[in-house]
Amino acid sequence: MRFINLDHGLELYGPETFPIPEHLAALASNPTIIACPGSTTCTKGLVNCWAAADEIRQVLTGQHLQEVRINISGCPNNCAHGAVSDIGLVGLLQKRNGKLAESYRLFRGGGNGRNDKPAKQSEIIYAQDIAAAVKRLLEPAKSDEDQNQRLFFPYP
Ligand code: SF4
Repeated sequence: MRFINLDHGLELYGPETFPIPEHLAALASNPTIIACPGSTTCTKGLVNCWAAADEIRQVLTGQHLQEVRINISGCPNNCAHGAVSDIGLVGLLQKRNGKLAESYRLFRGGGNGRNDKPAKQSEIIYAQDIAAAVKRLLEPAKSDEDQNQRLFFPYP
């Protein structure tokens, strides 16, 4: 039996459990990252969400952040629902050195759709810096003040 779930993931059900193949088991502790196609195929897309998702996945691999959800949308239509997730990224273009540069508006602290808690909007980050910014957000807080500045993170 197969289902496509609300995260657009594929769920497989059968009469017996089976071990996850080794090359996939390494991904089991990764955060859930949901990204719309953005500028790869969507005519509304302003940024390449899949590239951002891949960069974020690479810097977070092995960090045991499987409880974290990161939702990435390629334009303000926000089809990936970043405004309710732990970390939401919504694409936009902003000028940098006179040219338009891919960027993301950052949202933090949503309830992931499990409650009515919206994420709070915070800074706008250039796409080239987004993986490092997300990694920094998920690092352990060094003090209470540091924790408060992160607005929400219960991790770790
Ligand atoms: S959020 Fe924007 S870019 Fe992404 S699928 Fe929706 S309309 Fe397209």
